[in-house]
Amino acid sequence: MILPFESRLSLGRRLKMSYVAHLRCKECGKTYPLTPRTVCDVDFAPVEVDYHYDRMQGNVTRASIEAGPRSLWRYKDLLPIEGQPQAGLRSGFTPLFKAERLAAELGVKELYIKDDSANYPSFSYKDRVVAVAITKAKEFGFDTVGCASTGNLAHSVAAHAAAAGMKAFVMIPHDLEEGKIIGTLVFGPKMVKIQGNYDDVNRLCTQIADKYGWAIVNVNLRPYYTEGAKTHGFEIAEQLGWKLPQHTVVPVAGGTILPKIYKAYQEFIKLGIVEDNGPRMYAAQAAGCNPVVDAIEKGLELFKPQKPNTIAKSIAIGNPADGFYVQQVIKNSGGWGAAATDAEILDAIKLLARTEGVFTEPAGGTTLACAIKLIQSGKIPANESITVCITGNGLKTIEVLQGQFVTAPAIPAKLAAFDEVVAFYEEQAAAAVSAS
Ligand SMILES: *Cc1c(COP(=O)(O)O)cnc(C)c1O
Ligand SMILES: [Zn+2]
Repeated sequence: MILPFESRLSLGRRLKMSYVAHLRCKECGKTYPLTPRTVCDVDFAPVEVDYHYDRMQGNVTRASIEAGPRSLWRYKDLLPIEGQPQAGLRSGFTPLFKAERLAAELGVKELYIKDDSANYPSFSYKDRVVAVAITKAKEFGFDTVGCASTGNLAHSVAAHAAAAGMKAFVMIPHDLEEGKIIGTLVFGPKMVKIQGNYDDVNRLCTQIADKYGWAIVNVNLRPYYTEGAKTHGFEIAEQLGWKLPQHTVVPVAGGTILPKIYKAYQEFIKLGIVEDNGPRMYAAQAAGCNPVVDAIEKGLELFKPQKPNTIAKSIAIGNPADGFYVQQVIKNSGGWGAAATDAEILDAIKLLARTEGVFTEPAGGTTLACAIKLIQSGKIPANESITVCITGNGLKTIEVLQGQFVTAPAIPAKLAAFDEVVAFYEEQAAAAVSAS
């Protein structure tokens, strides 16, 4: 068949612009065309995007990436879109820095913070996955997007949908933090608060995707959405000067980001962009919701689902969709896992703030608290390079720190009153020293 010139041109352009091959079942390997889909028809295992890595050799290089925009789209060749990015043009490329003061406090040699609390526009790692999912939703021709969320995803979907001129329905557990609810509502989505936990929300969203035919980013667009999480890993490697950290500590909720950071490392190794130093991955969960870490510690083949009970609401997923793949990556990479109590999470939030000037939410507190436990137990050697992935911003969850700080009472604007305040804080400091 002879195609008209215009279609041949756009076909040619498409073929040249994208290295995406197909969807492939993670278990049986059956391949599927690039359409909205969550699982394999044969075994109901998740499907994943596969690429023509052979065609990337020599074309996707450090130089080609460095020539890209200062956003997550500099890794576009390794993302599952066909045309140009249509969302998240300012997302990603967040700071990675050497945390010298924190490292000194912990007695480790080389510690880095990858800081997605500064991600744009919604201050969590979710802007990465949503940038890809919304672009994909537009390519597929959807006009309505939605999500099953523990808070940050709803926030990000609402923001990106607004900027892309799409309608949004966001489904959340009813008891989320106020900052996340108001921060989401300002973008004008339809919010659906569900009486239940995340796993109840997610189950309902599967039915909604079927019945309403919307793009539920982490359900029927899940294989495309999850690929966006790789950009967190690509950035770590590039920002370390095209090197991989030896140890990477990552929070686990649904189990998307941890395996995708590892996939990013492996793709860069495969393309000769970084050297293979055998990077090890470590899972961080809250003690009140630790199905994956529990399975790692006990050597279980399959994790046991839990009912979450923790202040770390953004990572409170008791039955993680990709928990099994987190276990696999931990095992294959030679890593481990740890869980942190709510008190340890709060201490870690304050430690990161006090030493490095970064305010993270309980998910970040969990990750740092678990990194500390893994270092202190010797699972992570203190003299090797460690990256801690901070995935969310503390200003969205200020209620967890209510009552944690003492301030002097309000004073008249008089120097004598100020002198009293100075004395008050001196007493406080002395009391803290004698208590420790
Ligand atoms: C969603 C989320 C995570 C991790 O979620 P995964 O589903 O495991 O990718 C971590 N931190 C924050 C702040 C999140 O919002
Ligand atoms: Zn299959």
